[in-house]
Amino acid sequence: MTIRLDKSRELQRRAERLLPGGVDSPVRAFRAVGGDPPFVASAKGAYLTDADGNRYIDYFGSWGPMILGHCDDEVVRAVQEAAARGASFGASTAAEGELAELVVQAVPSIEKLRFVSSGTEAVMSAIRVARAFTGRKFIVKFEGCYHGHSDALLVKAGSGVATFGIPGSAGVPEEVVQHTLALTFNDVAAVEEAFAKHRGEIACVIVEPVVGNAGTILPEPGYLEALRAITEREGALLIFDEVMTGFRLALGGAQEVFNIKPDLTTLGKIIGGGLPVGAFGGRAEIMDQLAPLGPVYQAGTLSGNPLAMAAGIATVSRLIHERETIYPKIAETTRQLAIGIAQEAKNAGIEIQVNWIGSMVTWFFTRERVTDFASAATSDTAKFGRFHRAMLERGVWLPPSQFEAAFVSAAHGEIEVEKTIAAAREVLLGIRD
Ligand SMILES: *Cc1c(COP(=O)(O)O)cnc(C)c1O
Repeated sequence: MTIRLDKSRELQRRAERLLPGGVDSPVRAFRAVGGDPPFVASAKGAYLTDADGNRYIDYFGSWGPMILGHCDDEVVRAVQEAAARGASFGASTAAEGELAELVVQAVPSIEKLRFVSSGTEAVMSAIRVARAFTGRKFIVKFEGCYHGHSDALLVKAGSGVATFGIPGSAGVPEEVVQHTLALTFNDVAAVEEAFAKHRGEIACVIVEPVVGNAGTILPEPGYLEALRAITEREGALLIFDEVMTGFRLALGGAQEVFNIKPDLTTLGKIIGGGLPVGAFGGRAEIMDQLAPLGPVYQAGTLSGNPLAMAAGIATVSRLIHERETIYPKIAETTRQLAIGIAQEAKNAGIEIQVNWIGSMVTWFFTRERVTDFASAATSDTAKFGRFHRAMLERGVWLPPSQFEAAFVSAAHGEIEVEKTIAAAREVLLGIRD
């Protein structure tokens, strides 16, 4: 089966003349899976329509924000009404307080917060506040966790415990990441060793409580509890980066699911309903470090943008009002999909590990249990690439990388699950070695 992508191909070529790789964010270029990326013309519910008129079931949901599905009527109306009142003022509006109240109601560890325009900014600013509050320089992160593209956090791998960071990108001087320690996820001993080696110097531990940016990887029982206990004992802050998991795994994010109270939380994606938003928040005494109350400078021309706040309020209020139906529904849809595809893989004799929780799922093409970045990296990415392309040709658009979580929205139902599993059945039989 082949789909026609003539218009998309033409648009890609045109874009490549002016935009590096033809894209504004690298994964969109499909380099990890090969083939031409479709250009999206429009979307509705669980479906994307491309420039050639092909329709796809969408399993990346704009990389997380679209938990209600695309073009939810209430979200569209809220944005239209806000746009008619004015796109941006650079002065405070009631909407910021309104969304803040909804967030604080849903995420009890957040007493105060500030809105920014992306997850990257949220994390960058949270780290700055953590360093100011503790008066310490070092930060601990985990291999495979993505916290946006700011310099100090673009550290992939520290080989061995407490190794000084190696920049994961050209253009990041070593000096800028010399206070970033990158440890193995799910390894408590590594965290203990880092604190033993840098006693009194570590400002914070930042973690994706459920990793989504290396594919879906769950914390082992007791792991998050250990991070909480160690940071508290050592006077360091625990930052949960819930840009992906916030309002997705539950209204209160991963911290609600695992019942852990971090000092700071970063949010984004869903709280903007598809518009550019991020937020960071936590204990009031920490957040009061921010200017104009405190010495930490942080600002944004478009922070708390009225359109973005309107989309966020519409999305988050729906989640609050319908929490009893939406979260169980998307979890059940995801469960059926996760197990259904894993079963088809088994029938086809293909080794797959499926990790899922709530509405996040990843099928790793490996026989190893995936608990950290190293085990995720044992995946057969070439086979994943073939799987991805063949699924796309059957109208199923999965995230175009083995190391990204797939998302299910409230607009996905049994019809989409059945179609997806039927497509996977054919595809998996076709990509056996
Ligand atoms: C997406 C993401 C970010 C970065 O957010 P942007 O809005 O893309 O800057 C940070 N942390 C996590 C966990 C994310 O999933």
